[in-house]
Amino acid sequence: MILPSYPSPTPAMPPVEQPGALPVSVQSLGSGSAGNAFLIQRGDLLLLLDCGVGIRMIRSALSARNRRLDQIDAIVLTHEHIDHVRTIPQVIDAKTPVIATQGTFDRLRIADPHWRPIAASRPIEIAGVRIWALPVDHDANEPCGYLIEMPETTITIITDLGSWHERLAGAVAASELVILEANHDEEMLRRGPYPPHLKRRVGSAVGHLSNRDCGMALAGIAKGGRSAPEVWLAHLSETNNRHALAESTVRDALARSDLELPVSALPRREPGPVWSPGTHAGTVPADGYRPYEEPRPVATGLRQLGFDGIAGF
Ligand SMILES: [Zn+2]
Ligand SMILES: [Zn+2]
Repeated sequence: MILPSYPSPTPAMPPVEQPGALPVSVQSLGSGSAGNAFLIQRGDLLLLLDCGVGIRMIRSALSARNRRLDQIDAIVLTHEHIDHVRTIPQVIDAKTPVIATQGTFDRLRIADPHWRPIAASRPIEIAGVRIWALPVDHDANEPCGYLIEMPETTITIITDLGSWHERLAGAVAASELVILEANHDEEMLRRGPYPPHLKRRVGSAVGHLSNRDCGMALAGIAKGGRSAPEVWLAHLSETNNRHALAESTVRDALARSDLELPVSALPRREPGPVWSPGTHAGTVPADGYRPYEEPRPVATGLRQLGFDGIAGF
């Protein structure tokens, strides 16, 4: 589902602090209803975005970086569904802050000292990394994606959304790496084995983004040279999608707009590739990437969209 455009943005914030370029890396540790997590590293700073994969997977990714669990600087959560928070009790310690919306916090009841509330127009900055919450339409309590702005690069991670909204376009246009949900093929969902209520839920405006909508959203943004990011397709359904099908559907949508971006689907249950800025095969826009401009706060109350309970995905 593609929703109409959004009011003009508010003025851009000043650039994030630039203390000298540091190495940046991004890796998925798993993507889909079995569990989601991303490790984002900038120099010594280590963020865990979502915490839905097993503890052994997290430990092994950390040890590959010579780090331990207690050296995570912050845990960033998109929403309370179990595939995004399953391992929280094992990862949280006395000092690691958890960045989440008030709605996510209300559902999870994480102890107060850990919690750093984030809202749409109130980014949180940690050691030169500015984190923006991007509200999305999904059947959770105030769910969001994230834009992570660093002096070296900007990345956007948006999964678990039933509708693409033009208010998200600014984040994608500002990003060198875009991680966007391509959950299902609409025909496979329609013909597949899910019971009718689950088909309705997944395909609804607060469910999950289809391959087709993902492709249309990216084509709309990349058109006109606004952006040329590397694209990782995320949260693919095991039942209603195939990696090759998701990639070809998105590439075809881009090709219909005469666009070609590096597009690859993330593995569901294993770590994906390690990404670093400046390494992708796409063409950098002639005038560089646009600084991120926050759109006006969302007018509708996302909390009123309904809630499926934390057993959702
Ligand atoms: Zn999910
Ligand atoms: Zn979800």
